[in-house]
Amino acid sequence: MALVSYGSLEAAIKGCFGEDVRIEDNRYVSGGDINDASCLLLSSNRKVFVKSNSIKNADFFDAEEKGLAAIAATGTIKTPKLFSKGVDRVRGISFLMMEMIDAGRGSEDSMRAFGHELAAMHSADTSRFVNFGKFGFVRDNYIGASKQINTPKDTWTGFFRQCRLEPQFKAAERYFDKDMIRAAVRLLDRLDDLLVEPDHPSLIHGDLWSGNYLIDAQGSAVLIDPAAYVGHAEADIAMTELFGRFSDRFYDAYREKKPMQEGYSDRRQIYNLYHLTNHLNLFGAGYLHSVTSTIRRYAG
Ligand code: ADP
Repeated sequence: MALVSYGSLEAAIKGCFGEDVRIEDNRYVSGGDINDASCLLLSSNRKVFVKSNSIKNADFFDAEEKGLAAIAATGTIKTPKLFSKGVDRVRGISFLMMEMIDAGRGSEDSMRAFGHELAAMHSADTSRFVNFGKFGFVRDNYIGASKQINTPKDTWTGFFRQCRLEPQFKAAERYFDKDMIRAAVRLLDRLDDLLVEPDHPSLIHGDLWSGNYLIDAQGSAVLIDPAAYVGHAEADIAMTELFGRFSDRFYDAYREKKPMQEGYSDRRQIYNLYHLTNHLNLFGAGYLHSVTSTIRRYAG
């Protein structure tokens, strides 16, 4: 069920927690790339976590809500409980309000359980997350601040070409010379040979780097800030290896439940090319060398 939308933070607090509940304190939480984040201390002693952005970016939070709700619906791995969303015109913000996750101590057992849970999420039935076709999502969403197109497609390679690499390459053309533009086209043409169809489609987190899971007070992993869609599970695993790896326990546990398809390590860089090109488009030329060397390597 979609979240109720409120016209102010105060109205959301009252609607979710009771008419007499007030905000006692608002503490800034650091660490976000795109949004502002804070922990509200309520008069009822509850803490809630609120992400906010400008009013024109309210759609970020509708997309995040749908992604977190889809992951939660698999019943396989923790996500923060969602309370409400809305647009607060006095503060000039849109917001998403959710459970505050108090950080606990991660251990090797936490990472092992995380591996099992992610494998279960990747094995869950996906039919309710795409309206037609096999791959995609019920709506477009965002990867960082970039639009992420999720138009359903029947094949994974077709989806990855048209909805992932092609739009990022197009946006990156301002950084590419003519040779690189041609190499990017050749790579897109070769994707049917370079990628494989999965044994079954998987709901994936879509932006699974180490900043997008928390370990809670029980030592369990909690997924946050997804760019969720139905795709190939190995795209999620590839992202965990882009900016440093998760612990070996995590990968061992994952593979116990869901073995990788043969040749994954040859495909990893192609999946991550999507994220690197997105970083190039969002953050600039510091990522150009990684992008162009990967394109050259696979363009043939
Ligand atoms: P952004 O969308 O801007 O990247 P994030 O969702 O990654 O923001 O979160 C911003 C900060 O808040 C990060 O430090 C993250 O660890 C923390 N955070 C995110 N969700 C929660 C939550 N439900 N409870 C506690 N901390 C959270």
